[in-house]
Amino acid sequence: MAFEGLSEHLQRVMSKIRGKGKVTEADVKEMMREVRLALLEADVNFKVVKDFVKRVSERAVGQEVLKSLTPGQQVIKVVKEELTELMGGEQSKIAVASRPPTVIMMVGLQGAGKTTTTGKLANLLRKRYNRKPLLVAADIYRPAAIKQLETLGKQLNMPVFSLGDQVSPVEIAKQAIEKAKEEHHDYVLIDTAGRLHIDEALMDELKQMKEVAKPDEIFLVVDAMTGQDAVNVAQSFHEQLGITGVILTKLDGDTRGGAALSIRAVTNTPIKFVGMGEKLDALEPFHPERMASRILGMGDVLTLIEKAQAAVDEEKAKELEQKIRTATFTLDDFLEQLGQVRKLGPLDEILKMLPGFNKIKGLNNLQIDEKQISRVEAIIRSMTKEEKMHPEIINGSRKKRIAKGSGTSVQEVNRLLKQFDEMKKMMKMMTNMPKGKKRGLKFPFM
Ligand code: GDP
Ligand code: MG
Repeated sequence: MAFEGLSEHLQRVMSKIRGKGKVTEADVKEMMREVRLALLEADVNFKVVKDFVKRVSERAVGQEVLKSLTPGQQVIKVVKEELTELMGGEQSKIAVASRPPTVIMMVGLQGAGKTTTTGKLANLLRKRYNRKPLLVAADIYRPAAIKQLETLGKQLNMPVFSLGDQVSPVEIAKQAIEKAKEEHHDYVLIDTAGRLHIDEALMDELKQMKEVAKPDEIFLVVDAMTGQDAVNVAQSFHEQLGITGVILTKLDGDTRGGAALSIRAVTNTPIKFVGMGEKLDALEPFHPERMASRILGMGDVLTLIEKAQAAVDEEKAKELEQKIRTATFTLDDFLEQLGQVRKLGPLDEILKMLPGFNKIKGLNNLQIDEKQISRVEAIIRSMTKEEKMHPEIINGSRKKRIAKGSGTSVQEVNRLLKQFDEMKKMMKMMTNMPKGKKRGLKFPFM
């Protein structure tokens, strides 16, 4: 998973300052040295790091922090807000043309993930937003490119517009848009050709296409694994073509994540989506604030809830959200969540989104297997109603009884209680976030 190193490093730094009742300028200075190092190690652009450190330092030694009652936490809040800002602040919306269809050009280097992402985006548009996209095969240079898009179209059961590889991409785009109008498609996604490097012929062709197709969005698809190079590519595409958004792919891979943090700052264009895998459902709208939370170990409950909404009914999800906000999340809720969570995907990925979970020692390296989850479930089931509501009453003899009843050990009971406690603490921190920023569950980008 991307950002792992950065996340670990930053969390280590933050934990030193978190509980401090008094924070001095020297404390902030020392912390910022570490933050700077963490960002550079994550391959964030040097200039971007410099600006970031400057902004945070200024705010962190300011009145709002030093004079507050919980200065340590205040500093962390500043870091989180600035990190969010760095990644684009507000979540940005995808364009909707006043007269359909909305035309989107997908551009980028070869192998960045344009064709795959075209399929994923079409899938997302249909599944979550009830749209009817037309896919357009305008990469006539790579022998298998048309076929690749057609295959994706088949998998999705969606139409793909193609005129073979003997018609110019500009003409293909033009005819595709006409066809989309006739057949009432509301989105046209044009998959274009990429080269290994930026070259003039390619750019000229894209510019011509832009003139003819008049796209509402030009999405630059960038491979997050390419690090600093991604920033240069983004910059030069932007200068020549005027991109309107970036889609970062392969964030599921072993990238340090620096590109994600730099691109927005350098090009001033928002990251709109991130690719998290090869499958057709592995594309997520990019939420700067949630990503900042995830990096700082505050969890990403909203994404988790969205995932849950797909599997659980909406009422339940709302209830859970409410409970987390008001910190009345009980062991019973936890138990129910575990049951739901099993339906959502790989457990370790899901658990990492819960606040506090990635702070639990060893979790990152741990293969969470189903058996272990079953033991946790057994422990909670062996508690009385009262114990589940108020775990603080669980004393030594109760622990023994619970361990016996669940076929586990007192140590395991202890561990679970401790983990739950930490989770709740983190949830409490989350609830201190400004309220307005947490909205937008249903249609996050439209
Ligand atoms: P294009 O040349 O820009 O059209 O790139 P493709 O769409 O053909 O993708 C190149 C490779 O990257 C393919 O093997 C894709 O499966 C893979 N790929 C694309 N997006 C992602 C992603 O988000 N995660 C992972 N792991 N692989 C991806
Ligand atoms: Mg392609």
